[in-house]
Amino acid sequence: SQISPSVYEIAVLPGDGIGVEVMDACVALLEAAQRQDGGPSLRLTRYEAGAQHYAKCGDALPERTLDAARAAHAVLFGAMGWPNVRYPDGTEPIPQLDLRMALDLYAGVRPIRWFEGLPRVLANEKARDIDFVLVREQTEGLFYARGRGEVNAAGEAYDTMQITRAGTERVSRFAFQLAQQRKARRGQARVTCVDKANVFTSMAFFREVFNGVAAGHADITYDHAYVDAMALTMVAKPWVLDVLVTENMFGDILSDLAAGLIGGMGMAPSADIGDNHGLFQPAHGTAPDIAGQDKANPGAMFLSGAMMLDWLADRHQQPALAARARTIETAVEYVLSSGIARPMEYGGTAGTKAMADAVIAALPHAA
Ligand code: ATP
Ligand code: MG
Repeated sequence: SQISPSVYEIAVLPGDGIGVEVMDACVALLEAAQRQDGGPSLRLTRYEAGAQHYAKCGDALPERTLDAARAAHAVLFGAMGWPNVRYPDGTEPIPQLDLRMALDLYAGVRPIRWFEGLPRVLANEKARDIDFVLVREQTEGLFYARGRGEVNAAGEAYDTMQITRAGTERVSRFAFQLAQQRKARRGQARVTCVDKANVFTSMAFFREVFNGVAAGHADITYDHAYVDAMALTMVAKPWVLDVLVTENMFGDILSDLAAGLIGGMGMAPSADIGDNHGLFQPAHGTAPDIAGQDKANPGAMFLSGAMMLDWLADRHQQPALAARARTIETAVEYVLSSGIARPMEYGGTAGTKAMADAVIAALPHAA
């Protein structure tokens, strides 16, 4: 942990599509929460990046933006990517992946928690207890293949999955540390390694390295699941899940499935964490189908902002920021459970701005 700065510099990267809309809402909420508690100051500064910025200026992730992200105490990120925007070689600009690599954000953290006011996707009463965290390795795995795949003259295409000891160790360690924090709060914790160790050498190695890390955490129980079986468990009885750790591509797919359990992408926050940097963004993308229409649910962005406050609180020993995170979460939950405003994503009438106004108005009751 580090000493507390007088102002926390936050690099804000709204990006493309609904990223811009949910970010405007989130910045307004963070500023309102700060005004209310009068606690530690965040300076939220916007920087340009994204597919549309590339289309306009020929640069998807300007050096100035990357430098600001590196120098900031944390990065708050909307979403990036836009249909039909391509580099000259035909590939898609995915600046968020470049940023992940540049800041070495190896752990993708996706908490999935049901609370009153969210859609009840599963009929079982136990679905009220859904509360797990998916930790996705995100610097290697099958995504290592990005830009490296090839189609040969024989008409065969190949992509390479990369699993390294160092990469698997650090993400496994991260999962066990997270489990330790959850155990302190909830009295118990379990880490599940999600793989396909029965088929792939790379995945058997992932499991073996995971087991090595598990052996160093005797206080935390652990087990394993094949990714296909995990897909079923997530739908059949997700309330039994706690901390999951998995390979990049499996994590990508499972996190969309997991978001479905709480009604869709609009309420699923995420954090991309490395040893030196943290980036916080909704799990959803730019949603071109609803962009620019004030329809996006900003809930996932709000909860990502709360995750950022928690991470800063921990890193800089600043409990006032954790208190602010609780206030924001409580306000979001209050708005949804009371029905004061219901997002369009759930069949309600509240657009992005109306949701932001409702959550900001709820802050005084949530403190
Ligand atoms: P990416 O490739 O970055 O994952 P995507 O094209 O898969 O992007 P997403 O943004 O992930 O699109 O979301 C898929 C769909 O879910 C969207 O097209 C949209 O209809 C819906 N959706 C996503 N986020 C939200 C939101 N915040 N509020 C309402 N609906 C959303
Ligand atoms: Mg998607």
